[in-house]
Amino acid sequence: MMVKTEKNVSKEKQAAIDYMNDIYEAVKERDPHETEFLQATKMLFDSLIPVFVKNRTYKDHNILERIIEPERVISFRVPWIDDEGVVQVNRGYRVQFNSALGPYKGGIRFHPSVDLSVIKFLGLTQIFKNSLTGQPIGGGKGGADFDPKGKSDNEIMRFCQSFMTELYRYIGPDTDVPAGDIGVGKREVGYMFGQYKRLQGAYQAGVLTGKGLNYGGSLGRTEATGYGTIYFVEEMLKDLRMDFHNLNLIASGSGNVAIHAMDKAIKLGAKVVACSDSNGFIYDKNGLSLQTIQRIKVDEGGRIKEYIDFHPEAEYFDDCSEIWSVPCDIAIPCATQNEIDEASAKTLVQNGVKVVAEGANMPCTMDAINTFIENDILFGPAQAVNAGGVACSALEMAQNSARLNWTFEQVDEEIKKIMKNIYRNCKRASNKYGSPGNLVVGANIAGFTKVADTMIEQGAI
Ligand code: NDP
Repeated sequence: MMVKTEKNVSKEKQAAIDYMNDIYEAVKERDPHETEFLQATKMLFDSLIPVFVKNRTYKDHNILERIIEPERVISFRVPWIDDEGVVQVNRGYRVQFNSALGPYKGGIRFHPSVDLSVIKFLGLTQIFKNSLTGQPIGGGKGGADFDPKGKSDNEIMRFCQSFMTELYRYIGPDTDVPAGDIGVGKREVGYMFGQYKRLQGAYQAGVLTGKGLNYGGSLGRTEATGYGTIYFVEEMLKDLRMDFHNLNLIASGSGNVAIHAMDKAIKLGAKVVACSDSNGFIYDKNGLSLQTIQRIKVDEGGRIKEYIDFHPEAEYFDDCSEIWSVPCDIAIPCATQNEIDEASAKTLVQNGVKVVAEGANMPCTMDAINTFIENDILFGPAQAVNAGGVACSALEMAQNSARLNWTFEQVDEEIKKIMKNIYRNCKRASNKYGSPGNLVVGANIAGFTKVADTMIEQGAI
């Protein structure tokens, strides 16, 4: 059973629950091993129940059955030669999930944990995230089970070229526009862009986003997800009649999203007391130095534990999952999926957390989210909170089409507006569908209804 049985459920609600359970069971039967995808499906369906109670149209058009099935799944071999001259093989994916609103759009992840389930969960949530941005972009995601850690620059280049040699035939500025994600930054996007250009024999700047500034990249893209996360939290705090001043914040991870979120939060007056990498976390009750974190993680590609070499007053703990035991006002998980479970969520609540916002994709388990919501902690879901990155990618596409470059200030201002709008739309949808303050319900419903309505307008495709 997907949804917990409730007492005194209306006939209409029970019918909606039964209908969605049937679809969920069918999805599960077809792909029982896709645990992350099933988890994302379950989370989505749970929050859409009020829509299906109020509105028959989506059921009449079999929207759920259609939306849950990617339009296209591409899986391919990625052979590459390592520095010892040995041929290695990885598996690459691109899931083109939904093109109702525009070309498929979503990042590429290189990480050993990548499989079809992970890419499908990311692709599904990407549809609604992209819809929330208000930009003309559909949803997709890609990646490979390649581990960039410890690889030489030449190995990374050869891998990216081989990956693109297969992928290039499926993408294009009006078809599918990939970007970076975990393990794929500006360097990798550059290698993939170079290979695409070579194979295509044409300079199509809009085929990838997250590019370098010299060849069509947008100012502000590097900062957009982290800054956007904090712009969203700013709106959440306003509803609590608060701002960042004198609030303690913890962020997991110390990658792109975490670093720029911490940067903006500090600029707005917050004190960042803890952050982590996949080995452990650092803590200083008087506030961490972002400059040192950047030097270690960005400039030198080191480990977060090196921080205490520069700041002996700080402490290092050898278990990254323990970061959630640090008391804080704001928690922003910015590392990876399922990093906050129910136990960590309970600890955060006991320690007085006021706001939790997902900078990473699906960092909180469903039990963790329920814990926050049941305890009236204002909770911002990933598809809304971290949408600043893809919103900026859409702005990069717009700049590429117009063949011009905006200033950093223009882009940043636009991202801020988009994040405020997303917050407003999520809040409005949560109110309209009877779950005021529940931004998970609000984000899923606001994202879903726009895509669903458009699919109906475009016919049974
Ligand atoms: P990066 O690869 O730049 O950084 C990931 C960070 O998380 C690294 O510091 C890594 O540590 C750390 N990490 C990984 N696993 C754990 C763990 N279990 N506990 C603690 N830290 C961990 O990725 P991004 O910052 O770009 O992405 C982070 C998340 O945000 C992902 O879920 C991604 O999908 C999502 N996201 C990113 C966007 C973007 O624009 N970059 C846009 C929207 C979403 P280590 O150095 O040890 O590997």
